[in-house]
Amino acid sequence: MLKIGAHLSSSKGFYAMGEEMLAMDANTCQFFTRNPRGGQAKEISASDIDKFKQLTQNNHIESILAHASYTINPCSDKEETRLFALNTMIDDMKRMEWIPNQYYNFHPGSHVGQGVEQGISYICETLNHLLKPEIKTQILLETMSGKGSEIGSTFEELRQIIDRTENGHLLGVCMDTCHIFSAGYDIVNKLDDVLENFDSVIGLEKLKMIHLNDSLTPFNSHKDRHAKIGEGSIGAEALVRFVNHPRLKHLSFILETPNEFEGYKKEIAFFRANYSA
Ligand code: FE
Ligand code: FE
Ligand code: ZN
Repeated sequence: MLKIGAHLSSSKGFYAMGEEMLAMDANTCQFFTRNPRGGQAKEISASDIDKFKQLTQNNHIESILAHASYTINPCSDKEETRLFALNTMIDDMKRMEWIPNQYYNFHPGSHVGQGVEQGISYICETLNHLLKPEIKTQILLETMSGKGSEIGSTFEELRQIIDRTENGHLLGVCMDTCHIFSAGYDIVNKLDDVLENFDSVIGLEKLKMIHLNDSLTPFNSHKDRHAKIGEGSIGAEALVRFVNHPRLKHLSFILETPNEFEGYKKEIAFFRANYSA
């Protein structure tokens, strides 16, 4: 069965988020660990989590993805900003241990002019504090579009982060279709080649999750503007081929398209109708 869901809010609690997930016929979902504009994360309620766990078990939910605030920058040139990112992520990791079948995705960050080399060193330093063999949470690096000085828009940069982090073998990757298309990987006309490239540079076994988005901007534009499925430069047909690709179809797909409940429900139904088991 296709594992597909959408980005939801956990602000009314995890059980409420789980009910919303089921109501849109999703069997996975993503949420922000805290308000993306920063600030304290909400206290986790043990009874809410218990009910949520029960819901995930009863409905065979195999993966729940958390997304770190996109405003933190683990490779800033300012020590204070890097420390804030680290402390936020340490707090996130503690909270993540409550969540069942949990994955934690983050943006590697922007080197803000220091260069990729220095930026990657800082990211790895941060990860060295987080990536302990005893944590149950699977940490994922997100593929980025390369806007500004963003790190992670090439498979090679992600490979370097994995190689230069202690316990880096524990890291996985979350591939965002909008981002990689915008970064210059042609998943519309050359999907097989892109996956072959990913496999030789990073290894497809490290690919754990997909962000399934259309892109508002053209191929190779290095912008990060998500579009609804079929309303962007990637197109519905290419995205249907993507979820059905034999090397990808077992993964979990998360929609981050500009939608509310009804729009997500429609897109999920569309992919379910166009998925061959
Ligand atoms: Fe993201
Ligand atoms: Fe994404
Ligand atoms: Zn994006």
